[in-house]
Amino acid sequence: MNILIFGPNGSGKGTQGSLVKDKYNLAHIESGGIFREHIGGGTELGMKAKAFIDRGDLVPDDITIPMVLETLKTRGAGGWLLDGFPRSMVQAQKLWEALQAENVKLDFVIEILLPREVAKNRIMGRRLCKNDNNHPNNIFIDAIKPNGDKCRVCGGDLSARADDQDEGAIGKRHDIYYDTNTGTLAAAYFFKDLAAKGECKYLVLNGEGSIGSIKDTLLAQLP
Ligand code: AMP
Repeated sequence: MNILIFGPNGSGKGTQGSLVKDKYNLAHIESGGIFREHIGGGTELGMKAKAFIDRGDLVPDDITIPMVLETLKTRGAGGWLLDGFPRSMVQAQKLWEALQAENVKLDFVIEILLPREVAKNRIMGRRLCKNDNNHPNNIFIDAIKPNGDKCRVCGGDLSARADDQDEGAIGKRHDIYYDTNTGTLAAAYFFKDLAAKGECKYLVLNGEGSIGSIKDTLLAQLP
């Protein structure tokens, strides 16, 4: 099964994605995570991408598109859940062309709805566990408050992403996400149109519920 997941930063997309990928044993391909691996490993690609990421800008397409399409081939042969890509209309078109050229079926597209102001507060409270980025920890959400300064799931050390604490960078990321002309919502709606033609299924979820209720709604709509 191949799935795309859309949602603003802070919508719980990573958490829900992780639950879905576990259920269907999919490769969880996160474009932002691939960039962070490159930055951590000090690769040339990582060094090129870092300045864009720190500012909250998109990394240019000539770096991002080949990187993601290559990862789908190398890691995604047994099914994938793609998160963080496409983030623009251009990326959506390139992805769709590549899938068609390779005869890869896109099964589901998931869109998580969340108002911009709610998303911003959630991002600033988000903490990353050193053992697993998808262990949910957020100092502003009671249900997933860390255990002191440690991960509530495994007790690992927590840290905050620099781009999560910078209101300017958050604003830029959301400007890109909520842009329905050429941005990420335009990319999502590109697939919504394809779903209307029967090319895939498009599921919409309300991101303001609890992690458990969103998960139940989501899994009930998947096979
Ligand atoms: P994320 O972890 O999804 O919030 O991504 C972190 C950062 O990586 C973004 O703010 C962008 O700078 C960069 N990035 C991730 N995915 C993409 C993409 N599809 N296109 C361009 N830049 C991206």
